[in-house]
Order: sequence, then structure tokens, then C-alpha cells
Amino acid sequence: MLELRPNCEYCDKDLPPHATEARICTYECTFCADCVEKHLANVCPNCGGGFTPRPVRPVMERRPGLSLAKRPASTKRVHLSYAKDEIAAFSKQVRDIPPERR
Ligand SMILES: [Zn+2]
Ligand SMILES: [Zn+2]
Repeated sequence: MLELRPNCEYCDKDLPPHATEARICTYECTFCADCVEKHLANVCPNCGGGFTPRPVRPVMERRPGLSLAKRPASTKRVHLSYAKDEIAAFSKQVRDIPPERR
């Protein structure tokens, strides 16, 4: 189950569970679409992988036990542990490597 982390690791913008601009990598590193496009070149600065839109978790309990209330989103804010210039160099280095060799 996804944690649904509450913020962009790069700019700290709020990304609530219904945010359609939330992007995640396979490890669930979470960023906003703006930062993924403008600052990260679709390269996760933590793992070097790519991003996909984060699915919305339903507010309504349409199936038993499955809703935001029953399976709440994380409230623990996450922040990058790398400097922004290091991240820029990292994404530049990784972005043109084909998926099978990343
Ligand atoms: Zn952001
Ligand atoms: Zn990642």
C-alpha cells in the first residue's frame, strides 16, 4: 500500500491524497509535477529511476475497508538530503541513459 506522502521533497508543496500533480518513483519518493519537469528531468534524485503520476485514493468507502479514512495517508513530511546543485548534476548525468541501463 502506498504511504501517500504529504509533500514534494524538492519544494515542500503540499500534495494531499487527491493531488493529481503528485508524482512518485518505484520507492515512492514523492514530488510535484512542476519539480519533476523543471528541476529533475524525470530522474528521481534519490534512486535515479523515473516517475509516474500517483493514483488518487478514494475518499468514499466504496468497498469494505478501502478508503482514505480506513487507510489514511502519511503525515510525515519528507525532505531531500542532497543539495540542489548536486541534484541538477545527478539528473543531467542520468536523464539520457536508456531505461534498461539505468
Ligand atoms: Zn515540488
Ligand atoms: Zn526514487
